[in-house]
Amino acid sequence: MILFKKSAVIAAAVFLCLLLLSCMGLSAVSSAGARRAEYCVVLDAGHGGVDPGVLGVVSREKESNINLKIVQKLQTMFADAGFCVVLTRKNEGGLYGLPTQGYKRRDMEKRREIIQDALPNLVVSVHQNNFVSDPNRYGGQAFFREGDEECKKLAESIQARLNGLSGKEVSPLSGDFFMLRCSDAPSVLVECGFLSNAREEALLLTDEYQTKVARAVFEGCLAYLC
Ligand SMILES: [Zn+2]
Repeated sequence: MILFKKSAVIAAAVFLCLLLLSCMGLSAVSSAGARRAEYCVVLDAGHGGVDPGVLGVVSREKESNINLKIVQKLQTMFADAGFCVVLTRKNEGGLYGLPTQGYKRRDMEKRREIIQDALPNLVVSVHQNNFVSDPNRYGGQAFFREGDEECKKLAESIQARLNGLSGKEVSPLSGDFFMLRCSDAPSVLVECGFLSNAREEALLLTDEYQTKVARAVFEGCLAYLC
């Protein structure tokens, strides 16, 4: 029996998945005459502007900046695979207009509007975690919309790959997050790691680890769709 390396098997599975999706997308375009790819994903980089999210325990780097960098890597991966990709936040600014009273509500409503206009097949919101009372806590965590089996399956697929990065065995959790209730499409919120853990913070600040996290999320989405 020939033994394949695990990475080679994963690469082959991703290739086959992409091939299948591209064939399905092409048939949809030819029959409907649509210019848009069949599969649309909305990528949401959490926070932004006057809302930095949490701060790195050592570097004080803003969560919002790390979220955006990981989303931009995901954008490239999904676009290269033939997806229509829509970003809620494209730069470091928030989506609230002027940072006056009620900015957070306006920011969230704008994100919902973008998601609903996109008619997405998937929604992925990217965040970083924080748990100051236990600085040893680490690892990615995927959240799904409570009571939604499709969201749960998507979260399980992503969580399995995040566990591969952290070496932990955790299950996805249900969460009552606004971003999970913006669309009927399978939606997940991914906390990529803990900025309250100095070791994980150092990893999350590197381009290399941001790419690994993005790839885990991307492959988790592809495996779910296939
Ligand atoms: Zn956050």
